Amino acid sequence: MSVVTIGVLALQGDVREHLAALGQLGVTGRPVLTERDLDGLEGLVLPGGESTTLSLLLASSGLFDPVAAVIGAGLPVFGTCAGLVLLAREVRGGRPDQRGFGVLDCAVRRNGYGRQTESFETTVELSAGPNEPSGSMPAIFIRAPLIEEVGTDVEVLARASTPGTGELRPVVCRQGSVLASAFHPELTADRRLHQLFLAMVERAAVDRREPSGVAG
Ligand code: GLN
Repeated sequence: MSVVTIGVLALQGDVREHLAALGQLGVTGRPVLTERDLDGLEGLVLPGGESTTLSLLLASSGLFDPVAAVIGAGLPVFGTCAGLVLLAREVRGGRPDQRGFGVLDCAVRRNGYGRQTESFETTVELSAGPNEPSGSMPAIFIRAPLIEEVGTDVEVLARASTPGTGELRPVVCRQGSVLASAFHPELTADRRLHQLFLAMVERAAVDRREPSGVAG
């Protein structure tokens, strides 16, 4: 793909791992620490970490509103684990003062898969659009949010069986230009979710150049 710059929110969490994953796909990743770092981005990754801490740091750094603004303006965003919590419309089991962007119509339960010692690895079946990455991929869950409900506008791109109950729950979701996974794709060698995100970024760039009705 053409040269793009993807930001990775760099306040806390799996920042290096996401930058490395993007680098492996030939994309420049830019750590986002200030509002200026958002300039000219074509996509933004919200990494795993701790959503309560990220929420506090987003507020204290003054980044919350600028990040909310770029996401609201349609910048493609990819949230993993704590990043998913930040994107969800409803957070259960969070801190009362925890804030998020509320752009993915789902309800998540923080640490819904259990504690750190109950972290696990499994295989999930990714099933996206016709020309998008698909197939089995490894998925590492670390104090992951459990997606308990999804709205009708949300595409569920992968499900996983929940340890203990065996229930199949959504683990990768997309709504428009918002992509989120409950697990950590940056911690395995499988790059399909990052590739899927980059395809969404490229599509968004084409849409900006050729708004519908003007294309042709
Ligand atoms: N439990 C964390 C939270 O609620 C997420 C953990 C992770 O990102 N690995 O934010």
